Amino acid sequence: MILTTMLTPTNQWPGTSHYAAELGAQRRCCSPAKGRIHHDILVVGGGLAGLSTALSLTERGITDIAICEAGQPGDGASGRNGGFVFAGYSLSNEALTRQAGLSQGRQLHQWTQHAVGLVRRRIDQWDIDCQANDAGVLLADWFGDDASMLSFRQRMQDTLRFRLDWIAPSELPDHIRTRRYGGALHEPGSFHFHPLRYINGLIRVLQERGVTLYGDTPIQSIKPPSQSHRLGADRWQAVTEQATLSADQIVLTTGGYDRGVWPRLTRAVLPIATYIATTEPLGDDLARLLPNGHAVYDNRFAFDYYRPLPDTRLLWGGRISTRARRPDAIRRLLKADLARVFPSLSEVKFEHAWGGWMGYTRHQMPILGQPQTGLWHATGFGGHGMAPTALAGEVLAEAMSGDETRLRAYQRWQPAWAGGLAGRGWAQATYAWLNLKDAWRDRVR
Ligand SMILES: Cc1cc2nc3c(=O)[nH]c(=O)nc-3n(C[C@H](O)[C@H](O)[C@H](O)COP(=O)(O)OP(=O)(O)OC[C@H]3O[C@@H](n4cnc5c(N)ncnc54)[C@H](O)[C@@H]3O)c2cc1C
Repeated sequence: MILTTMLTPTNQWPGTSHYAAELGAQRRCCSPAKGRIHHDILVVGGGLAGLSTALSLTERGITDIAICEAGQPGDGASGRNGGFVFAGYSLSNEALTRQAGLSQGRQLHQWTQHAVGLVRRRIDQWDIDCQANDAGVLLADWFGDDASMLSFRQRMQDTLRFRLDWIAPSELPDHIRTRRYGGALHEPGSFHFHPLRYINGLIRVLQERGVTLYGDTPIQSIKPPSQSHRLGADRWQAVTEQATLSADQIVLTTGGYDRGVWPRLTRAVLPIATYIATTEPLGDDLARLLPNGHAVYDNRFAFDYYRPLPDTRLLWGGRISTRARRPDAIRRLLKADLARVFPSLSEVKFEHAWGGWMGYTRHQMPILGQPQTGLWHATGFGGHGMAPTALAGEVLAEAMSGDETRLRAYQRWQPAWAGGLAGRGWAQATYAWLNLKDAWRDRVR
């Protein structure tokens, strides 16, 4: 108990992810920054928000860029997640249209649909070997309530022009062999992949384009040009133990692993954990349970999410918590969840088990902006970042090249104080309450 609560988002999560173990020595690692260094643009954070922003900048002819990552690129959420690439944000689609209005909500959502396509195209364009599986993503109905699934589908069609294909309960066994669910909705165009392999591919492309990546380079502080005179430059400065970096512009993409370099951003992002484990290889059993290779999540607040891996393992994720947990505790929790959906797997062994921090804002939308001249940020993607980080990279690169049209659409969602420690307590209490509501709905179905 003491150990679990002592872990903070800046610690390495204990245990190795399946992704890191599978990639092994093929993983591209980057050396630390040393001495006095200048780049036109400095990106802080080597997750998908940082890498995608750098990539989008290179596509606009800007290449004097450095990315500083506290560990190695992909050590944060981006290299250890479920690998679902699908449309939308952490904020629900209904809340999105309520808050932004119908027309802008629809546009914001469509941008995420295009971003799914962008990630998929990048994989093909650069021949990134990341096990992309185009069977796509299914939202399974935990409660067996066809009417509410169909009405949700209709609302998505009417408000967002977002098509979801209905799989009736009688057809579901063709896709998922379990009696746990009613029907399901399939998102055309969605896919799933090995996120750390994707990151490895992006690093290759960035390096080919002249971008410098520094690993093991935690930025301790940044200073605006007005405070940098003493250091001999009218530029932004970023300081590490071994280096002083100057840049004309800095982009903060520190996610749920934020180390407090810009207090207003740190205060706006709550680190929230979720857990994953991978089974031992299941052989033919896996194809029997998921014949078409879909990734699946369900419609509870704290949903299970799982997908088949090419080597016949099942990757199983779930739970939302404010606590880091050790691999053994994660295995115990997820084993029970797995057995509820696939009782035939109740004796199966989980090999790797790990977790990661998602960065949640109070309003559940990412915060994109330029709070001071030359300082940009893209963070707070919550549990839904694979496509939105690619979108954010595009939006920031456009704005940094002079076109702020799309950036303005995100100004409604400013960095708001997320409550600090009390916010984490409140989040845990809210999760417990929402879980109870789901359990109740399940009982009375
Ligand atoms: C277990 C898990 C499962 C998930 N599953 C999915 C999924 O299936 N689909 C989906 O769409 N989303 C999923 N998500 C969410 C998604 O992974 C995130 O939204 C996304 O990766 C956020 O990207 P990011 O670049 O903002 O943050 P991160 O990937 O966390 O990157 C931030 C990086 O900044 C670095 N950093 C922080 N401070 C400093 C500093 N001072 N100096 C240098 N570096 C610093 C950190 O080390 C970290 O590597 C999941 C998240 C988790 C944790």
